[in-house]
Amino acid sequence: MQTDFLIVGGGVVGLTSAQVLLQAGYRVTLVERGTVGREASWAGGGILSPLCPWDYQEAVTRLAQRGMSMFSEAASTLHASTGIDPEYQRSGMLLLPPYQAELAAQWCAQHQLVLQSVNLADYLPVEMGSGLLLPEVAQVRNPRLLHALRKRVEMLGGMILEQHEVQKFEIAGERVVALQTTQGKFGADAYIVAAGAWSKTLLGEHALNMDIRPIRGQILLFKFDTPPFQQILLKENLYLIPRRDGHVLVGSTLENVGFDKSTTVEARDSLLQRVREIFPGWRDRMPVQHWAGFRPGSPDNIPTIGRHPRLTNLYANSGHFRYGVTMSLASAELLLNEIEGKPQPFPVEEYRWH
Ligand SMILES: Cc1cc2nc3c(=O)[nH]c(=O)nc-3n(C[C@H](O)[C@H](O)[C@H](O)COP(=O)(O)OP(=O)(O)OC[C@H]3O[C@@H](n4cnc5c(N)ncnc54)[C@H](O)[C@@H]3O)c2cc1C
Repeated sequence: MQTDFLIVGGGVVGLTSAQVLLQAGYRVTLVERGTVGREASWAGGGILSPLCPWDYQEAVTRLAQRGMSMFSEAASTLHASTGIDPEYQRSGMLLLPPYQAELAAQWCAQHQLVLQSVNLADYLPVEMGSGLLLPEVAQVRNPRLLHALRKRVEMLGGMILEQHEVQKFEIAGERVVALQTTQGKFGADAYIVAAGAWSKTLLGEHALNMDIRPIRGQILLFKFDTPPFQQILLKENLYLIPRRDGHVLVGSTLENVGFDKSTTVEARDSLLQRVREIFPGWRDRMPVQHWAGFRPGSPDNIPTIGRHPRLTNLYANSGHFRYGVTMSLASAELLLNEIEGKPQPFPVEEYRWH
Protein backbone atom coordinates (compact mmCIF):
# COMPACT_ATOMS: atom_id res chain seq x y z
CA MET A 1 0.00 0.00 0.00
CA GLN A 2 1.57 3.30 -1.11
CA THR A 3 0.46 6.24 0.97
CA ASP A 4 1.84 9.65 1.86
CA PHE A 5 -0.10 10.11 5.11
CA LEU A 6 -1.54 7.70 7.62
CA ILE A 7 -4.15 9.41 9.79
CA VAL A 8 -5.11 7.80 13.09
CA GLY A 9 -8.74 8.47 14.02
CA GLY A 10 -11.91 8.87 11.98
CA GLY A 11 -13.72 11.67 13.80
CA VAL A 12 -14.46 15.08 12.33
CA VAL A 13 -10.82 16.13 12.78
CA GLY A 14 -9.30 13.04 11.10
CA LEU A 15 -11.83 13.05 8.25
CA THR A 16 -11.46 16.79 7.61
CA SER A 17 -7.66 16.48 7.67
CA ALA A 18 -7.94 13.61 5.18
CA GLN A 19 -10.17 15.65 2.92
CA VAL A 20 -7.87 18.66 2.91
CA LEU A 21 -4.75 16.54 2.24
CA LEU A 22 -6.47 14.62 -0.57
CA GLN A 23 -7.58 17.89 -2.16
CA ALA A 24 -3.95 19.03 -2.01
CA GLY A 25 -2.96 15.96 -4.00
CA TYR A 26 -1.61 13.60 -1.34
CA ARG A 27 -2.40 9.90 -0.95
CA VAL A 28 -4.12 9.33 2.36
CA THR A 29 -5.09 6.30 4.44
CA LEU A 30 -7.15 6.71 7.59
CA VAL A 31 -7.12 4.02 10.27
CA GLU A 32 -9.97 3.86 12.76
CA ARG A 33 -10.28 1.59 15.77
CA GLY A 34 -14.06 1.16 15.48
CA THR A 35 -16.41 2.66 12.92
CA VAL A 36 -15.68 6.08 11.48
CA GLY A 37 -17.58 8.99 13.05
CA ARG A 38 -19.05 7.29 16.09
CA GLU A 39 -17.24 8.95 19.00
CA ALA A 40 -17.15 12.60 20.16
CA SER A 41 -17.86 13.93 16.68
CA TRP A 42 -21.08 11.92 16.54
CA ALA A 43 -22.08 12.71 20.13
CA GLY A 44 -21.67 16.48 19.92
CA GLY A 45 -24.21 19.21 19.40
CA GLY A 46 -22.89 20.71 16.17
CA ILE A 47 -23.04 24.33 17.31
CA LEU A 48 -20.53 26.22 15.18
CA SER A 49 -19.35 28.65 17.82
CA PRO A 50 -17.94 28.72 21.32
CA LEU A 51 -20.90 28.97 23.71
CA CYS A 52 -19.98 32.36 25.20
CA PRO A 53 -17.12 33.35 22.90
CA TRP A 54 -16.00 36.10 25.30
CA ASP A 55 -15.03 33.44 27.86
CA TYR A 56 -12.07 32.19 25.81
CA GLN A 57 -8.53 33.18 24.91
CA GLU A 58 -7.68 34.63 21.52
CA ALA A 59 -6.07 31.33 20.46
CA VAL A 60 -9.52 29.72 20.68
CA THR A 61 -11.28 32.67 19.07
CA ARG A 62 -8.92 32.78 16.07
CA LEU A 63 -9.37 29.11 15.26
CA ALA A 64 -13.10 29.08 15.93
CA GLN A 65 -13.84 32.22 13.94
CA ARG A 66 -11.83 31.04 10.94
CA GLY A 67 -13.51 27.63 11.10
CA MET A 68 -16.95 29.24 11.33
CA SER A 69 -16.26 31.48 8.35
CA MET A 70 -15.32 28.47 6.19
CA PHE A 71 -18.28 26.25 7.07
CA SER A 72 -21.08 27.54 4.89
CA GLU A 73 -19.20 27.02 1.64
CA ALA A 74 -17.66 23.73 2.77
CA ALA A 75 -21.08 22.37 3.74
CA SER A 76 -22.56 23.35 0.35
CA THR A 77 -19.68 21.67 -1.46
CA LEU A 78 -20.08 18.54 0.66
CA HIS A 79 -23.81 18.46 -0.02
CA ALA A 80 -23.41 19.01 -3.76
CA SER A 81 -20.60 16.48 -4.18
CA THR A 82 -21.91 13.66 -1.95
CA GLY A 83 -25.69 14.15 -2.05
CA ILE A 84 -25.68 14.11 1.78
CA ASP A 85 -26.94 17.30 3.42
CA PRO A 86 -25.05 18.11 6.65
CA GLU A 87 -27.92 20.49 7.45
CA TYR A 88 -25.79 23.57 7.91
CA GLN A 89 -28.08 26.38 8.98
CA ARG A 90 -27.49 29.82 10.39
CA SER A 91 -30.11 29.40 13.07
CA GLY A 92 -28.66 32.02 15.41
CA MET A 93 -28.12 31.60 19.14
CA LEU A 94 -30.30 33.24 21.81
CA LEU A 95 -28.83 33.84 25.25
CA LEU A 96 -31.30 33.75 28.11
CA PRO A 97 -30.45 35.63 31.31
CA PRO A 98 -28.29 35.72 33.34
CA TYR A 99 -25.39 36.87 31.13
CA GLN A 100 -22.65 39.49 31.05
CA ALA A 101 -24.26 41.97 28.65
CA GLU A 102 -21.51 44.59 28.75
CA LEU A 103 -18.66 42.15 28.28
CA ALA A 104 -20.56 40.44 25.45
CA ALA A 105 -21.24 43.76 23.69
CA GLN A 106 -17.60 44.87 23.98
CA TRP A 107 -16.22 41.55 22.78
CA CYS A 108 -18.63 41.30 19.84
CA ALA A 109 -17.81 44.86 18.74
CA GLN A 110 -14.08 44.03 18.86
CA HIS A 111 -14.52 40.78 16.95
CA GLN A 112 -17.04 41.96 14.33
CA LEU A 113 -19.76 39.60 15.56
CA VAL A 114 -23.34 40.86 15.37
CA LEU A 115 -25.08 40.97 18.76
CA GLN A 116 -28.63 42.20 19.30
CA SER A 117 -30.60 42.83 22.46
CA VAL A 118 -34.06 41.32 21.91
CA ASN A 119 -37.37 40.75 23.63
CA LEU A 120 -37.46 37.00 24.28
CA ALA A 121 -41.25 36.89 23.97
CA ASP A 122 -40.77 37.59 20.23
CA TYR A 123 -38.91 34.27 19.89
CA LEU A 124 -40.17 31.93 22.64
CA PRO A 125 -43.48 31.01 24.18
CA VAL A 126 -42.30 32.24 27.60
CA GLU A 127 -42.16 35.61 29.35
CA MET A 128 -38.51 36.11 30.31
CA GLY A 129 -37.72 39.72 29.52
CA SER A 130 -34.69 40.55 27.39
CA GLY A 131 -32.19 38.24 25.77
CA LEU A 132 -29.12 38.51 23.55
CA LEU A 133 -29.20 37.23 19.99
CA LEU A 134 -26.12 36.19 18.03
CA PRO A 135 -27.82 35.87 14.64
CA GLU A 136 -24.73 34.61 12.76
CA VAL A 137 -24.20 31.48 14.83
CA ALA A 138 -24.79 28.35 12.76
CA GLN A 139 -25.16 24.62 13.39
CA VAL A 140 -24.69 21.33 11.56
CA ARG A 141 -26.17 17.92 12.17
CA ASN A 142 -23.20 15.83 13.27
CA PRO A 143 -24.09 12.31 12.02
CA ARG A 144 -24.93 13.75 8.60
CA LEU A 145 -21.77 15.83 8.45
CA LEU A 146 -19.73 12.72 9.24
CA HIS A 147 -21.48 10.59 6.61
CA ALA A 148 -20.88 13.29 4.05
CA LEU A 149 -17.20 13.67 5.03
CA ARG A 150 -16.65 9.94 4.87
CA LYS A 151 -18.16 9.74 1.40
CA ARG A 152 -16.15 12.75 0.24
CA VAL A 153 -12.88 11.24 1.49
CA GLU A 154 -13.65 8.01 -0.37
CA MET A 155 -14.68 9.90 -3.51
CA LEU A 156 -11.34 11.74 -3.43
CA GLY A 157 -9.51 8.40 -3.37
CA GLY A 158 -8.77 8.17 0.36
CA MET A 159 -8.64 4.72 1.92
CA ILE A 160 -10.50 4.12 5.20
CA LEU A 161 -9.57 1.11 7.31
CA GLU A 162 -12.09 0.44 10.10
CA GLN A 163 -11.68 -2.01 12.98
CA HIS A 164 -7.95 -1.24 12.90
CA GLU A 165 -6.76 -0.17 16.32
CA VAL A 166 -3.33 1.43 16.36
CA GLN A 167 -1.35 -0.07 19.22
CA LYS A 168 2.19 1.15 18.74
CA PHE A 169 4.40 3.55 16.83
CA GLU A 170 7.57 1.98 15.48
CA ILE A 171 10.40 4.49 15.57
CA ALA A 172 13.82 4.47 13.90
CA GLY A 173 16.05 7.42 14.73
CA GLU A 174 13.96 10.56 14.39
CA ARG A 175 11.21 9.03 12.29
CA VAL A 176 8.12 6.92 12.67
CA VAL A 177 8.53 3.96 10.32
CA ALA A 178 5.28 2.05 10.89
CA LEU A 179 2.11 1.77 12.91
CA GLN A 180 1.40 -1.54 14.56
CA THR A 181 -2.37 -2.18 14.46
CA THR A 182 -4.64 -5.04 15.45
CA GLN A 183 -4.73 -5.95 11.74
CA GLY A 184 -1.03 -5.77 10.98
CA LYS A 185 1.63 -3.19 10.27
CA PHE A 186 1.18 -0.09 8.09
CA GLY A 187 3.76 2.37 6.84
CA ALA A 188 3.62 5.84 5.26
CA ASP A 189 5.83 8.83 4.63
CA ALA A 190 4.18 10.72 7.49
CA TYR A 191 1.67 10.12 10.30
CA ILE A 192 -1.08 12.27 11.83
CA VAL A 193 -2.62 11.59 15.22
CA ALA A 194 -6.26 12.69 15.24
CA ALA A 195 -7.43 10.22 17.86
CA GLY A 196 -9.44 12.75 19.89
CA ALA A 197 -9.63 11.99 23.62
CA TRP A 198 -7.37 8.94 23.12
CA SER A 199 -4.47 10.84 21.50
CA LYS A 200 -2.30 11.21 24.57
CA THR A 201 -2.79 7.61 25.74
CA LEU A 202 -2.04 6.31 22.26
CA LEU A 203 1.15 8.34 21.94
CA GLY A 204 2.48 7.27 25.35
CA GLU A 205 5.98 8.67 25.91
CA HIS A 206 5.84 10.42 22.50
CA ALA A 207 2.98 12.64 23.74
CA LEU A 208 5.57 14.78 25.60
CA ASN A 209 3.68 17.78 27.06
CA MET A 210 0.46 17.16 25.16
CA ASP A 211 -2.23 17.28 27.83
CA ILE A 212 -5.45 15.71 26.53
CA ARG A 213 -7.96 13.88 28.70
CA PRO A 214 -11.50 12.62 28.15
CA ILE A 215 -14.21 14.96 29.42
CA ARG A 216 -17.57 13.24 29.27
CA GLY A 217 -20.60 15.11 27.97
CA GLN A 218 -24.15 13.80 28.11
CA ILE A 219 -26.99 14.89 25.85
CA LEU A 220 -30.76 14.32 25.92
CA LEU A 221 -32.74 14.15 22.69
CA PHE A 222 -36.38 15.26 22.48
CA LYS A 223 -38.75 14.94 19.52
CA PHE A 224 -41.50 17.40 18.51
CA ASP A 225 -43.73 17.33 15.43
CA THR A 226 -42.26 20.66 14.34
CA PRO A 227 -39.37 22.68 15.83
CA PRO A 228 -40.67 24.37 19.01
CA PHE A 229 -38.27 27.32 18.44
CA GLN A 230 -35.85 28.32 15.69
CA GLN A 231 -32.70 29.52 17.45
CA ILE A 232 -30.18 27.61 19.53
CA LEU A 233 -30.92 28.56 23.16
CA LEU A 234 -28.21 29.07 25.76
CA LYS A 235 -28.88 29.60 29.44
CA GLU A 236 -25.63 29.65 31.37
CA ASN A 237 -24.12 26.24 30.56
CA LEU A 238 -27.32 24.62 29.27
CA TYR A 239 -28.05 24.62 25.55
CA LEU A 240 -30.99 23.48 23.43
CA ILE A 241 -30.42 22.87 19.73
CA PRO A 242 -33.46 22.64 17.44
CA ARG A 243 -33.06 20.51 14.31
CA ARG A 244 -35.20 21.01 11.22
CA ASP A 245 -37.23 17.83 11.75
CA GLY A 246 -38.39 18.67 15.29
CA HIS A 247 -35.58 16.96 17.23
CA VAL A 248 -34.15 19.08 20.04
CA LEU A 249 -30.79 18.27 21.68
CA VAL A 250 -30.36 19.33 25.30
CA GLY A 251 -26.87 19.40 26.77
CA SER A 252 -24.57 19.04 28.33
CA THR A 253 -22.46 17.90 31.24
CA LEU A 254 -18.70 18.36 31.70
CA GLU A 255 -17.44 15.34 33.65
CA ASN A 256 -13.89 14.28 34.40
CA VAL A 257 -14.54 10.54 34.88
CA GLY A 258 -11.96 8.88 32.64
CA PHE A 259 -13.08 6.65 29.77
CA ASP A 260 -16.44 5.72 31.29
CA LYS A 261 -19.10 6.29 28.63
CA SER A 262 -22.11 5.47 30.82
CA THR A 263 -25.07 7.79 30.87
CA THR A 264 -26.28 8.62 34.37
CA VAL A 265 -29.63 9.23 36.04
CA GLU A 266 -28.12 12.24 37.86
CA ALA A 267 -27.19 13.95 34.60
CA ARG A 268 -30.55 13.17 33.03
CA ASP A 269 -32.45 14.52 36.03
CA SER A 270 -30.32 17.64 36.24
CA LEU A 271 -30.74 18.42 32.51
CA LEU A 272 -34.49 17.73 32.75
CA GLN A 273 -34.86 19.99 35.76
CA ARG A 274 -33.00 22.85 34.11
CA VAL A 275 -34.92 22.58 30.86
CA ARG A 276 -38.25 22.52 32.72
CA GLU A 277 -37.28 25.70 34.54
CA ILE A 278 -37.21 27.35 31.12
CA PHE A 279 -40.22 25.50 29.69
CA PRO A 280 -42.59 24.38 32.47
CA GLY A 281 -44.80 22.92 29.70
CA TRP A 282 -42.15 20.20 29.13
CA ARG A 283 -43.04 18.70 32.53
CA ASP A 284 -44.37 15.44 31.12
CA ARG A 285 -42.13 15.28 28.09
CA MET A 286 -39.43 12.60 28.24
CA PRO A 287 -36.29 12.32 26.10
CA VAL A 288 -36.35 9.79 23.26
CA GLN A 289 -32.59 9.21 23.57
CA HIS A 290 -29.74 9.91 26.00
CA TRP A 291 -26.06 9.50 25.11
CA ALA A 292 -22.54 10.36 26.21
CA GLY A 293 -19.29 11.14 24.42
CA PHE A 294 -15.70 12.05 25.29
CA ARG A 295 -14.53 15.52 24.43
CA PRO A 296 -10.76 15.64 23.86
CA GLY A 297 -10.21 17.99 26.83
CA SER A 298 -7.17 20.27 26.64
CA PRO A 299 -5.96 23.15 28.85
CA ASP A 300 -7.90 26.33 27.97
CA ASN A 301 -9.53 24.49 25.08
CA ILE A 302 -6.42 24.97 22.92
CA PRO A 303 -5.69 22.04 20.58
CA THR A 304 -2.29 20.71 19.52
CA ILE A 305 -1.77 21.18 15.78
CA GLY A 306 1.51 20.50 14.04
CA ARG A 307 4.75 18.57 13.95
CA HIS A 308 6.27 16.59 16.81
CA PRO A 309 9.33 18.42 18.22
CA ARG A 310 11.59 15.37 17.74
CA LEU A 311 9.95 12.91 15.35
CA THR A 312 10.13 14.69 12.04
CA ASN A 313 7.30 12.86 10.23
CA LEU A 314 4.75 12.77 13.06
CA TYR A 315 1.96 15.35 13.37
CA ALA A 316 -0.94 15.95 15.75
CA ASN A 317 -4.36 17.43 15.19
CA SER A 318 -5.91 16.74 18.57
CA GLY A 319 -7.44 18.22 21.70
CA HIS A 320 -10.18 20.47 20.33
CA PHE A 321 -12.19 19.92 23.53
CA ARG A 322 -15.62 21.62 23.29
CA TYR A 323 -15.28 22.99 19.77
CA GLY A 324 -13.81 20.36 17.45
CA VAL A 325 -16.55 20.63 14.86
CA THR A 326 -16.35 24.44 14.85
CA MET A 327 -12.55 24.36 14.51
CA SER A 328 -12.22 21.37 12.17
CA LEU A 329 -11.75 23.21 8.85
CA ALA A 330 -9.37 25.86 10.18
CA SER A 331 -7.40 23.26 12.10
CA ALA A 332 -6.92 21.12 8.97
CA GLU A 333 -5.86 24.25 7.07
CA LEU A 334 -3.20 25.05 9.69
CA LEU A 335 -1.95 21.46 9.59
CA LEU A 336 -1.61 21.50 5.78
CA ASN A 337 0.24 24.83 5.92
CA GLU A 338 2.66 23.41 8.49
CA ILE A 339 3.26 20.29 6.40
CA GLU A 340 3.92 22.35 3.28
CA GLY A 341 5.85 25.10 5.06
CA LYS A 342 3.36 27.73 3.91
CA PRO A 343 2.50 30.94 5.81
CA GLN A 344 -0.26 30.67 8.39
CA PRO A 345 -3.28 33.00 8.42
CA PHE A 346 -2.54 34.03 12.04
CA PRO A 347 -0.05 33.30 14.85
CA VAL A 348 0.03 29.57 15.65
CA GLU A 349 2.53 29.42 18.51
CA GLU A 350 -0.12 28.41 21.06
CA TYR A 351 -1.06 25.27 19.11
CA ARG A 352 2.49 23.94 18.81
CA TRP A 353 3.48 20.54 20.16
CA HIS A 354 6.06 20.84 22.96
C1 LIG B 1 -21.70 16.18 24.40
C2 LIG B 1 -20.79 16.91 23.46
C3 LIG B 1 -21.22 18.09 22.87
C4 LIG B 1 -20.40 18.77 21.97
N1 LIG B 1 -20.87 19.86 21.31
C5 LIG B 1 -20.11 20.49 20.39
C6 LIG B 1 -20.62 21.59 19.63
O1 LIG B 1 -21.80 21.95 19.76
N2 LIG B 1 -19.79 22.20 18.73
C7 LIG B 1 -18.50 21.79 18.53
O2 LIG B 1 -17.80 22.39 17.72
N3 LIG B 1 -18.00 20.74 19.24
C8 LIG B 1 -18.77 20.09 20.15
N4 LIG B 1 -18.26 19.04 20.87
C9 LIG B 1 -16.84 18.73 20.77
C10 LIG B 1 -16.53 17.97 19.51
O3 LIG B 1 -17.49 16.95 19.34
C11 LIG B 1 -15.12 17.39 19.61
O4 LIG B 1 -14.19 18.41 19.87
C12 LIG B 1 -14.73 16.74 18.28
O5 LIG B 1 -15.71 15.81 17.89
C13 LIG B 1 -13.38 16.04 18.37
O6 LIG B 1 -13.19 15.38 17.16
P1 LIG B 1 -12.04 14.32 17.00
O7 LIG B 1 -12.09 13.84 15.59
O8 LIG B 1 -10.78 14.86 17.54
O9 LIG B 1 -12.46 13.14 18.04
P2 LIG B 1 -13.43 11.89 17.87
O10 LIG B 1 -14.67 12.22 17.15
O11 LIG B 1 -13.57 11.29 19.23
O12 LIG B 1 -12.60 10.92 16.94
C14 LIG B 1 -11.44 10.28 17.37
C15 LIG B 1 -11.43 8.92 16.68
O13 LIG B 1 -10.17 8.28 16.95
C16 LIG B 1 -10.43 6.90 17.06
N5 LIG B 1 -9.33 6.28 17.78
C17 LIG B 1 -8.97 6.46 19.08
N6 LIG B 1 -7.91 5.69 19.39
C18 LIG B 1 -7.57 5.01 18.26
C19 LIG B 1 -6.57 4.05 17.97
N7 LIG B 1 -5.69 3.62 18.88
N8 LIG B 1 -6.52 3.53 16.71
C20 LIG B 1 -7.41 3.95 15.75
N9 LIG B 1 -8.38 4.84 15.99
C21 LIG B 1 -8.46 5.38 17.23
C22 LIG B 1 -11.74 6.84 17.83
O14 LIG B 1 -12.37 5.58 17.71
C23 LIG B 1 -12.51 7.98 17.21
O15 LIG B 1 -13.34 7.56 16.14
C24 LIG B 1 -19.08 18.29 21.72
C25 LIG B 1 -18.66 17.09 22.30
C26 LIG B 1 -19.51 16.40 23.15
C27 LIG B 1 -19.04 15.10 23.72
